Amino acid sequence: MKSAIVVGSGAGGATVARELSKYEIQVTLLEKGNRVPPEKSHQCYDNLDVGVELLKTTCLGGTTMVTAGNAVRTCQKEFKKLGIDLEEEFQEVEGELGVGTLPDTHFGEGTLKLMEASSSLGLSMEKMPKFIESHKCVPCGMCAMGCPRNAKWTSLNYLEEAERSTTQIIENAHVTKIMAKNGRVTGVKTPNHEYKADLVIVCAGAIETPRLLRSAGLVAGEHLFVDTFVTVGGALPNINFHQEVSMNALYKGHDYILAPHYSGLLALRLKPYGFQEKDILGLMVKIRDDLSGCVEDNVVAKNNTSHDIGVMAEGSATAGAILSEAGVDPKTLLSTPARGAHPGGTAAIGEVVDRNLETEIEGLFVADASVLPRAPGSPPVLTILALAKRLAKHINTLN
Ligand SMILES: Cc1cc2nc3c(=O)[nH]c(=O)nc-3n(C[C@H](O)[C@H](O)[C@H](O)COP(=O)(O)OP(=O)(O)OC[C@H]3O[C@@H](n4cnc5c(N)ncnc54)[C@H](O)[C@@H]3O)c2cc1C
Repeated sequence: MKSAIVVGSGAGGATVARELSKYEIQVTLLEKGNRVPPEKSHQCYDNLDVGVELLKTTCLGGTTMVTAGNAVRTCQKEFKKLGIDLEEEFQEVEGELGVGTLPDTHFGEGTLKLMEASSSLGLSMEKMPKFIESHKCVPCGMCAMGCPRNAKWTSLNYLEEAERSTTQIIENAHVTKIMAKNGRVTGVKTPNHEYKADLVIVCAGAIETPRLLRSAGLVAGEHLFVDTFVTVGGALPNINFHQEVSMNALYKGHDYILAPHYSGLLALRLKPYGFQEKDILGLMVKIRDDLSGCVEDNVVAKNNTSHDIGVMAEGSATAGAILSEAGVDPKTLLSTPARGAHPGGTAAIGEVVDRNLETEIEGLFVADASVLPRAPGSPPVLTILALAKRLAKHINTLN
C-alpha cells in the first residue's frame, strides 16, 4: 500500500487526508496543535504582526475552526489561465458542505438594514452563501470564536471520516524538516521522531509551508498576500448587530468585497462616547491585495502598496456611504486597523509548484493556501478544498 504524510490539518490538510484515505493510501497526518472543542477554538489564535495583524489558529482543524462559514468560489480566472479546471471538485465540495444561503429567520435587523441601504444606493448586496447548517445555528455572532453549536463545517468533519478510514492523526507533532534523497522525498522530521513515506503533502498554511519547503532546499516564501481587511462602522443605538450571523451578505466591488461585520475593536473605540456593543453596526472591507509580502525563516512582512491603499480607500468610502444610509451617525464612523485572515501565495502554482501541486522534489506536494497564484480577495476555503481534492485524484493516478 502507498504511504503519505500530510503536514497540517486545516482546510487543505484535512481534505487531502480524507481523499487519499478513500483511495486506500496509508496516511499519517502530523498536526502541530491539538484537538479542542469547537467553541474553544478562539483559545488557539496564533496571530502575527506582519505590518497588518495576521489572524490564524494552530490546532486540529487549523483556521477552519474560526471561519464565518462563507462559501464562495475564488481565483476562477487565474485557474483558467493556468489550464486548471476545478468545476467538478467545486461541485463535490459544495454538495458535501451543503453550501447555500441561510433562511430569512437567520437575518438580523443590522444586516437587513445594510442590504436595504446598499440597494437604495444602487449597489447590489446579496445573501452570502454559507457552509452552516441552519437548523443547528442560533444566531449569536460567535462564528469567529468557534461555533458553540457546531453548526458550521470545519475540517474536523473531514478528519473524522479520514480517521475512520486509513488516516492516523498525530497531534502535537511539529514538523521541522522535510527529508529528501536523490531528488525524491523520503519523509519528515519532528523534534523527537522521523517519519518515512512515499509521498509528503505539505499543508501547514501559507506561513509555515514555505519555511518547511526551504528546509528541503527549495525557494519559497518570496511573495505573500493576506487579503487585507478593515471593519468600518459606527453607532446605531440598540441595533444588537453583534449577535447576528457574521458576514451574512456580500457586495462585490472592483478588487474588494464588503460584508456586514461586527468588530469588538469598534465598540472599544466608541465606548468613551457612551456606546456599547449593542450599538455598533459595521461593514468589513476586504481587498484583493498585492503579493507584496514575504515569509523568511524569522520574519514575515506584508507591506501595503499604493494599489492596496487606493482599493482600501475606495471600499471604505463605499462602506461609509452604506452605513450612513443605513442610519449610522456619520460623526461616529471609524475604522479598525488593517488585518489579514487569508495568507497565501507563498508557494504559488507556476512558481514553486507545478499544475499538479508538485515541487521540484519528486513526491513532495503542497495543498493549502500557499499555492494560490494571486489574492482571492474573498473567502478561499472552498477553493483550497477543491484544489486538495484535485491533488488527491492526481496522486491516485501515479504508480
Ligand atoms: C477569523 C477568520 C475567519 C475566516 N472566515 C473564512 C470564511 O468564512 N470562509 C473562508 O473561505 N475562509 C475564511 N477564513 C480563511 C480560512 O480559514 C483560511 O484561508 C484557510 O483555513 C487556510 O487553509 P490552509 O490549509 O492554508 O491553512 P490552515 O487552515 O491554517 O491549516 C494549517 C494547519 O497546519 C498546522 N501547522 C502549521 N505548521 C505546522 C508544522 N510545522 N507542523 C505540523 N502542523 C503545522 C496548523 O496548526 C494548522 O492546523 C477565515 C480566517 C479567519 C482567521
